[in-house]
Amino acid sequence: MQAYDVVIIGAGHNGLTCAAYLGMAGLKVKVLERRPVVGGAAVTEEFCPGFRNSVAAYTVSLLNPKIIADLRLHDHGLRLVERRVQNFLPTLDGRYLLAAEGRTKDGIANFSHIDAQRYDAFNQRLDASADLLRELALQAPPNLTRGLGTRTIGELIKAAALGNRLRRMSTENLRALYDLFTKSAADYLEQWFEGELVKAWLGFDAIVGNYASPYTQGTAYVLLHHAFGEVNGKKRSWGHAIGGMGAITQAMAGAARAHGAEIETEAAVREVIVERGRAAGIVLEDGRTVRARAVVSNVNPKLLYTRLVPAGALPEKFLARMNSWRNGSGTLRMNVALSALPSFIALPGEGDHLSSGIIIAPSLRYMERAYDDARATGWSREPVVEMLIPSTLDDTLAPKGAHVASLFCQHVAPELPTGESWDDFRDEVGDLMIATVDHYAPGFKQSVIGRQVLTPLDLEREFGLLGGDIFHGALTLNQLFSARPMLGHADYRSPIKGLYHCGSGAHPGGGVTGAPGHNAAQAVISDLKGRRI
Ligand SMILES: Cc1cc2nc3c(=O)[nH]c(=O)nc-3n(C[C@H](O)[C@H](O)[C@H](O)COP(=O)(O)OP(=O)(O)OC[C@H]3O[C@@H](n4cnc5c(N)ncnc54)[C@H](O)[C@@H]3O)c2cc1C
Repeated sequence: MQAYDVVIIGAGHNGLTCAAYLGMAGLKVKVLERRPVVGGAAVTEEFCPGFRNSVAAYTVSLLNPKIIADLRLHDHGLRLVERRVQNFLPTLDGRYLLAAEGRTKDGIANFSHIDAQRYDAFNQRLDASADLLRELALQAPPNLTRGLGTRTIGELIKAAALGNRLRRMSTENLRALYDLFTKSAADYLEQWFEGELVKAWLGFDAIVGNYASPYTQGTAYVLLHHAFGEVNGKKRSWGHAIGGMGAITQAMAGAARAHGAEIETEAAVREVIVERGRAAGIVLEDGRTVRARAVVSNVNPKLLYTRLVPAGALPEKFLARMNSWRNGSGTLRMNVALSALPSFIALPGEGDHLSSGIIIAPSLRYMERAYDDARATGWSREPVVEMLIPSTLDDTLAPKGAHVASLFCQHVAPELPTGESWDDFRDEVGDLMIATVDHYAPGFKQSVIGRQVLTPLDLEREFGLLGGDIFHGALTLNQLFSARPMLGHADYRSPIKGLYHCGSGAHPGGGVTGAPGHNAAQAVISDLKGRRI
């Protein structure tokens, strides 16, 4: 039995961020991680002999600059580089769209001059909403609490400050914000653009990790969610961490350790200890007990409340709502080792476009069909694939002359509609994804010399992502902001005193942001030390 101020369940990037801030505040922290490596979904692993890759999350943008600075992640070895080209959308008829600094508008104009003219105004509107989200990311949302205590008054002040911030937006920007929270991505984009490829490029962000048609209401929010990041000060850019996403979490672990946190891997937590209505520590799978004044959970909220908290310790109505927490991103992730770079029909040969997010989904209707097919049969014969080849930016991942690619495939059913197991279809669907890229870049299939396929079931088994949900819960309006993970608990505090959540199931949600970890640390420090960070 050991005593700590705080024990954290899970060493995902949010658990590590939280540990570093708690350590900075002088608290004695223990982090327990089920896997042999820290990092959760942000890890670099050797998936095939000689080839390493970011095996789950694969690209960086949302990681908050304040967290990078506070944790001194650069001093702990982190180096972020931008993609030379942001996105490349090939077609089969020789056309393509390239999005790159200073070149995007010309690319759009190849398809529609009207779209190119509207592009700046579109960006200004989206930026205004993304700026707001960026500001709100590092604060707990207003929390619905009852009574008239100091906490309630604090929440009212917070709500008033938000109202005031919204009042400072122009009417047009406010209307765009409202649209982005409520409309479908297709409706939102169709009011701006006419070209299929430009709508597909921007609409892809709305279906990443979001098992929905881009014509479904609420999907515009997911587009916005992917827009509040930056790389090295460049807003809405996406980039790469040298050494892969594991470089981010290794740097975070270094920062946490430097502030005194102890991190133990291969240490799965079985149960949260609740004594007289208060969390008092945890029990590990191996039977050991770690006692602490507070317990912070980095895992999906449904996993925490339905599997790790003892039955009977939670209010019945809370548990009933948590049971209906919606998980299931509908994604399949592949890592492939390549003997050569692909050559696309639309833009043959090597070039900067191969350092980009290569999106195979040439229209919003294509994405909708992929979703409809997945609902009906489990996956589509014409799937949505984003391919990134990080070895074009980073020579630490593959042997000289060879490459690694990440394939992020959207719209596979979280659970197969037939009730069959994903274990029986892993290879078949893996083959289909390779064949899909091969269709656009003939010869790709022959260049694949090794591969790893992670179905939604594998993502759950390997990383604890329930239903394979990459965000720890869908980013739908009923699961966002003050309602994440539930109205009344948006302040990172659970219904059990001393139990907190710091994972992506809390505001501002999924992605490698570090924000829930930062915000949860504030709540814990305020409760244990009576001060803010
Ligand atoms: C395939 C995929 C692709 C993605 N792509 C991107 C991307 O490119 N860019 C981006 O920004 N985001 C991406 N995301 C989303 C992002 O990776 C996640 O939202 C984020 O990493 C979640 O971080 P977290 O710290 O909240 O939780 P996690 O990373 O899920 O960490 C939770 C940790 O808890 C551990 N754990 C679970 N149960 C227990 C237990 N009982 N005891 C102890 N430990 C336990 C887990 O092993 C894990 O390490 C992707 C996610 C996936 C899965």
